[in-house]
Amino acid sequence: MQQVLVVGAGLAGAVYARVLAEYGLKVHVIDQRDHIAGNCHDEIDDETGVRFHTYGPHLFHTSNHRVVEWLSRFTDWLPYEHRVVARLESGQEVPLPVNRDTVNAVFGTRLATVEEVMAFLAGKVERRKVIATAEDHLYAHIGPTLTNFFFRPYTRKMWGLDLQEMDAAVVRRLQIRMDSEDRYFPNDTFQALPAKGYTAMFRRIFDHPEITVETGQPFAQAMLSDYDFCFSSMPIDAFYGYQLGELPYRSVRFQTSRHRRDDAPGHTTINYTDEGPNTRETWWHALPGHDGGGSEVLTTVEEPCDYRDNGMERYYPVKAHDGRYDKLYDRYRIMADAEEKLTFIGRCGTYQYLDMHQVVNQSLTGAGKWLRLHMSNAA
Ligand code: UDP
Repeated sequence: MQQVLVVGAGLAGAVYARVLAEYGLKVHVIDQRDHIAGNCHDEIDDETGVRFHTYGPHLFHTSNHRVVEWLSRFTDWLPYEHRVVARLESGQEVPLPVNRDTVNAVFGTRLATVEEVMAFLAGKVERRKVIATAEDHLYAHIGPTLTNFFFRPYTRKMWGLDLQEMDAAVVRRLQIRMDSEDRYFPNDTFQALPAKGYTAMFRRIFDHPEITVETGQPFAQAMLSDYDFCFSSMPIDAFYGYQLGELPYRSVRFQTSRHRRDDAPGHTTINYTDEGPNTRETWWHALPGHDGGGSEVLTTVEEPCDYRDNGMERYYPVKAHDGRYDKLYDRYRIMADAEEKLTFIGRCGTYQYLDMHQVVNQSLTGAGKWLRLHMSNAA
């Protein structure tokens, strides 16, 4: 029987481990942190009983049936449609991403139809021949005023770079609506949270007789000789000792505090689009299945930073518009392609800005392909 090592007990590692174990391989999963579930990890606050996500809000959304079906083997779901507001200096709260109500609030207009909003914005946008940067995309769709209001300061604190330096893909993730749609992920057919939390879902994914999990265990090269193959979600540059240079990641500092329930706003997430250091606050009890029911509730404010500040976790690979970091990753990947017994997986292994459903999908595909290549009787 083949023995496989999976480095990282996050989403990519969990999917690989389960698929391979169900095929009949013996899988050992290690993670240097003292818990499973990677950045999806959640926990319950002792004092308020509120569930919170240790590494910031993880809101599951997808239109991919295969992903929903697969995860649904390990969790029930509580439907949840995410909405975000930005608080203006006046104290007014407006929907984000930008929609008709946002436009009316910023410009003092009373646009009522999609056609009116389109015509109005057509007079505000700056056409660009090529859409390469985040600024190009936003100027071409909503114009400089809305861009500078909602996106430029936020992006600078989020990424440490100006919109002109960021790849358009980073903001293309967000909707721009001409109607009053205010859901953050309106195009996804499935939006829900694991009924008993993410960590419980991971526990069930790992709950298989062929899987062993060891937390608090960092990877060491010498381990490879004990296994037939290794799937590693550790950062590819760290694996190679940064010999070609470091791949930049943004991290986030969290300030979590308790408040009287009566003082909580009605929103789950409020984005700070101003010049201050923080990007958003999340009121956990407003998420289904997260409320502890007590008199106090919990909120977390996020302040992005470089991951190298005091050994922070890596969150977001930095996607510069000139692709300079992707090119560096490509050079590491060439080294990785030459590995016979090792494949890099997941966000840090492949230097991609991925949502959870994309990690699950890629991992299902990757594990299936690997089985077909390496196991003669794999379907
Ligand atoms: N963004 C922004 N202002 C906002 C929300 C998002 O400028 O109020 C930009 C920012 O560059 C951010 C990107 O859009 O990194 C993608 O936002 P999203 O909410 O998808 O980020 P995530 O949920 O992954 O942190």
